[in-house]
Amino acid sequence: MCWKSVQFRIEYPADCGTLVSMIIESQELPPIGTNAFALIDTDLKACVIIDAPTEAFEWATRTAKKHDCAIVALILTHGHWDHMLDGYKFANAGVPVYGHKADALMFANPSVMASYAMPELEFQAVPIDHWIAGGDVLKLLTTEMEIRHVPGHCPGNVLIYLGRESAAFPGDAIFRGSVGRYDLPGGDVAVLSQSIKSQIYTLPDATTLYPGHGPTTTVAAEKSGNPFVRG
Ligand SMILES: [Zn+2]
Repeated sequence: MCWKSVQFRIEYPADCGTLVSMIIESQELPPIGTNAFALIDTDLKACVIIDAPTEAFEWATRTAKKHDCAIVALILTHGHWDHMLDGYKFANAGVPVYGHKADALMFANPSVMASYAMPELEFQAVPIDHWIAGGDVLKLLTTEMEIRHVPGHCPGNVLIYLGRESAAFPGDAIFRGSVGRYDLPGGDVAVLSQSIKSQIYTLPDATTLYPGHGPTTTVAAEKSGNPFVRG
């Protein structure tokens, strides 16, 4: 299997006139092709990781080192096993882990979803240091990160929005031309549709969406072309 790796660089002039930049690195990882992201603040020399599939810890460590940054947080978009198999490694290394309380059971006991996973996988609990909720604004980097609650794929799915960078990370709520599964435990199609309409389609049209699986898209593209939820 060939895993996709992508780097985006977003540059903008700071108040003082010097150019600062945010680098977003994206890496598709095993076992089923889940995207992990590194938000690299070259000004602050800090890096926030979003989601932790298998091999994410090694990848994140390598990526942070390459940019001479410290990993200051791991944010889990939701409590599904394929997004947090490596989560315990971040916790063991002392990286603070963020997640939504509605998925607390899955963070504490990921094997509750074992019947939907591969039989040979080993699940480790992921201790959450900071519970996040819709409306929170995290100030972990020079840019502000707004948390939006987008349940429906699972109860604790959050979206992380970086207004200055026009970037949003919706977990498995929406994909390019598709939406997250709503037939898993805790899923609900009506709730998912409402989340997408009220929390994702209300972002500025030009916002780039970096989903938990597959390629990037934009709010405008999904509002006009997503066959599941029309804007
Ligand atoms: Zn999921």
